[in-house]
Amino acid sequence: MTVNSLNQVRPTQSLRGHVDVLIVGAGISGLGMGHYLATMQPGKSFAIVDSRDAIGGTWDLFRYPGIRSDSDLHTFGYEFKPWTSDNAIADAHEILDYLHEVVDEDDLGRRIYLHHKVLKADFDSATAQWTVALERDGEHFEVTCDWLFGATGYYDYAGGHRPHFEGEEDFEGRIVHPQSWPEDLDYTGKKVVVIGSGATAVTLIPAMAGEVEHITMLQRSPSYVMPLPRKDPIANSLRKVLPAKAAYAATRRFNIGKGRFIYNLCQRHPKLARRIIRSLNVKALPEGFEVDTHFNPTYNPWDQRLCAVPDADLFRTIARGKASVVTDRIARFTKTGILLESGKTLDADIIVTATGLKLLPLGGIQVSVDGEVKNPHDSLLYKSFMISDIPNLAFAFGYTNSSWTLKVGLVCEHLCRLLAYMDRHGYTTVVPIVDDPHMDKRPMLDFSAGYVQRSVDLFPQQGSTGPWTVEMDYWADHDRLRKGSVEDPALRFSTAVGAQAVSRLARA
Ligand SMILES: Cc1cc2nc3c(=O)[nH]c(=O)nc-3n(C[C@H](O)[C@H](O)[C@H](O)COP(=O)(O)OP(=O)(O)OC[C@H]3O[C@@H](n4cnc5c(N)ncnc54)[C@H](O)[C@@H]3O)c2cc1C
Repeated sequence: MTVNSLNQVRPTQSLRGHVDVLIVGAGISGLGMGHYLATMQPGKSFAIVDSRDAIGGTWDLFRYPGIRSDSDLHTFGYEFKPWTSDNAIADAHEILDYLHEVVDEDDLGRRIYLHHKVLKADFDSATAQWTVALERDGEHFEVTCDWLFGATGYYDYAGGHRPHFEGEEDFEGRIVHPQSWPEDLDYTGKKVVVIGSGATAVTLIPAMAGEVEHITMLQRSPSYVMPLPRKDPIANSLRKVLPAKAAYAATRRFNIGKGRFIYNLCQRHPKLARRIIRSLNVKALPEGFEVDTHFNPTYNPWDQRLCAVPDADLFRTIARGKASVVTDRIARFTKTGILLESGKTLDADIIVTATGLKLLPLGGIQVSVDGEVKNPHDSLLYKSFMISDIPNLAFAFGYTNSSWTLKVGLVCEHLCRLLAYMDRHGYTTVVPIVDDPHMDKRPMLDFSAGYVQRSVDLFPQQGSTGPWTVEMDYWADHDRLRKGSVEDPALRFSTAVGAQAVSRLARA
C-alpha cells in the first residue's frame, strides 16, 4: 500500500512561534520520536521539521536500483508497530509505506514541516529556551522550543564521499554517485563498473545485472559479505499461528538475540567467525572462484559493518557470469574505462562511484549556549543521547552493529520519561556535567571503516565509565534506558527564573 495522504494533511505554512519539542528530521527516528511524544507525553506540543520535500530520510533519498535494508525489519521496525510483510529484508518502498502508515496512525502529518532546514540553535539559560534558525526556500526565520531533538541521521544529505580519480575528465562515459542517482540513467546493454565493496555496491550489482551487458565490482580491498534469507521462515510461520503483535514481539526478541550472538562470536572468536563466513561464501560461489582474493578482508569480522546479501543474490549473479569482482587499485580513468595498477584495463560505459557517505553530526546544525558556539568533539556523550554541557538537547544515534532503530526506540522512551520527571519537579533545564576532568576519552564510533575514520573528529566522544560510555548492545541499553532511573548524579536540573516569568506571562 502506498499512502500519499501526507500531502493533503500537512501544514503548508512555515512553522512559527513556540513548541515544547522540536524534532529535526522526518526519517524513521524523527517519526518514531513523534509517536513516543504523542503517546507518552500527549500534553506536549511538538513539530517535526525536515529540509527535504518528503518524509523517510535515508529510505526516500537513495534511489539506486535495488535499494533495500540489510537489517531485518523485525528489529529495524518500531517496537510499537509490527512488521507484517513476508520480506524480512525490505526494499526502500516497503519501508516508506510502513513509515507513512505510522504518520497516519499517529496523526503526525499535521505536525510535519517539510523544506524546513535547521541552520543554528542557541540555548538561552535565562529563559530555558532554544532559538532555532531555519531556512525554507530562501526565507530565513526563527522558532523557539524548550527541547531540541536531533533525528538528523549521521551523514551529509548534500552529497556523499566522492574522491577525485586521476584522468576522470578524459572518461567519455557517465560517472554516477549512488547518493544522487539520475532518474534517466539507462544502463541497458551497457558495461558498468561499480567502484566499492560496501553495502551499496553489493546491493546495486545484482539489481542492475539483469539489464547490463556486464557489471564489475572493482574494490581496493574486500569486505565481509554474508548471505541471509530475504524472508524469515520463523517470522512467517509465527505469523500464521499467533496474532501479529505476539508474532512480531517473539521474532524481534529472537532476532535481537541472534544478532548479538553473531556479533559476540565475531568479536571473541574472530578466527572461527572468519572460517564460518568463508565457508558460506565458498558454498554460494562457483567452483574455483578466488574467495581468498575477493572476499577475505584483512580486518576481523565486525571491525567494520558486515554486508548482507539476501538469498545470496550477489553470489548467484557472479555464478551466472553477469557480474565479476576485481580486487586491484585504480591507476587512472581513461577515455574508455579504468586503467588498474596491475596494468589491466576495465572497459566501461558507466562508472558508479559507490565510495561511501560523508558523515555529519547533528545535520550540520551550529549549536550554541548563551551565544557560545559549541564544538561537539569537546563534549562527552551522556547515555549516548545527550551531550555534556549542552542543556535540553537530545538526539537519536542508533547502533552500527545491529539495527539502528533498536537503540533509537529506547532513547525516545527514556527522553519522554525524563520530560515527565522534569514536569513533576518543575524543572525547566537539564544538563549533563562531567565531574571528572581526567576521564579517558575515546571516539564515539570505534569502527575502523574509512568513512568513520575520516570524520570521527567531528563527533562528540565517549568516556570510560558510567553514563559516559556508548553501549553497542541492546540489552545493556535496555537496562540503562528502559529500566534505569532518569535521575542521575551527572544530570543537573534547574528551574530558570526567566522561564517562570515567560510562563506567568503566557498564563496572564
Ligand atoms: C543505503 C543505506 C541503507 C541502510 N540500511 C540500514 C539497515 O538496513 N539497517 C540499519 O540499522 N541501518 C541502515 N542504514 C543506516 C540508516 O541511515 C539508519 O538506520 C536509519 O534509516 C537512519 O534513520 P534516521 O531517521 O535516524 O536518519 P535519516 O534516515 O538519515 O533521516 C534524517 C533526516 O533528517 C533530515 N535532516 C538532516 N539534517 C537536517 C537539518 N539540519 N534540518 C532539517 N532536516 C535535517 C534529513 O533530511 C533526513 O530526512 C542505512 C543507510 C543507508 C545510507
